[in-house]
Amino acid sequence: MKTIGMIGGMSWESSLEYYRLMNEEVRARLGGSHSVDCLLYSFDFQEIEELQHQGDWDRLTREMVKQGMNLKRGGAEFLVICTNTMHKMAPDLERETGLRVLHIADVTGKEIKRQGLSKVLLLGTKFTMEGEFYKAVLKEKHGIDVVIPRDEDREIVHRVIYQELVKGKICDESRAEYARIIEESKRAGAEGVVLGCTEIPLLIHQEDVSVPVFDTTAIHSIAAVDWALEV
Ligand code: GLU
Repeated sequence: MKTIGMIGGMSWESSLEYYRLMNEEVRARLGGSHSVDCLLYSFDFQEIEELQHQGDWDRLTREMVKQGMNLKRGGAEFLVICTNTMHKMAPDLERETGLRVLHIADVTGKEIKRQGLSKVLLLGTKFTMEGEFYKAVLKEKHGIDVVIPRDEDREIVHRVIYQELVKGKICDESRAEYARIIEESKRAGAEGVVLGCTEIPLLIHQEDVSVPVFDTTAIHSIAAVDWALEV
């Protein structure tokens, strides 16, 4: 089994899920007392969140590369960035560390295609919903069309992530708002929804909505085990 280098703490609420899901997947596949072989670097998210909102992506890229190199020195054989948003710097991280990065949008795109969908709603931080770095992977690599919520709904989705989910707060009212936004996206032709922030699966589950949900935390964790076991 390859050693996975996880760049997490963004937030730790979802890194915990990655760690649990990867361990469960390795146990299911290998049996016995097998568990995942990994290293985790966990950022102090307050610092990351401030830099994101200041738009200091250069500094964030340097921090990511620095920790990616530390993981490489520690024996990591490929990298898993445990957040959708920070895939904004995935190409830089891959180039600068010389390690392969398992791209979350790429593996999510594969799963959407496998299920036969061609147009999805993308929920995530404003950086993920409004930027091109994520949508381009879905569109250009997998031919999947992406719709995003209207302005005021993007504000709600973003606020719930930073004010609630990364702080471990799961609120019924926010679940209802997300469900409304997802249901309304059907009018724009969305056939499914990408939970494109690794904390959203803590709030929204398949049974909360009427379209297929793509849980990026679970899809990414399982794909990481595929890579680790060279499936
Ligand atoms: N975990 C979230 C994501 O998947 C948001 C935290 C972050 O900004 O990295 O995008």
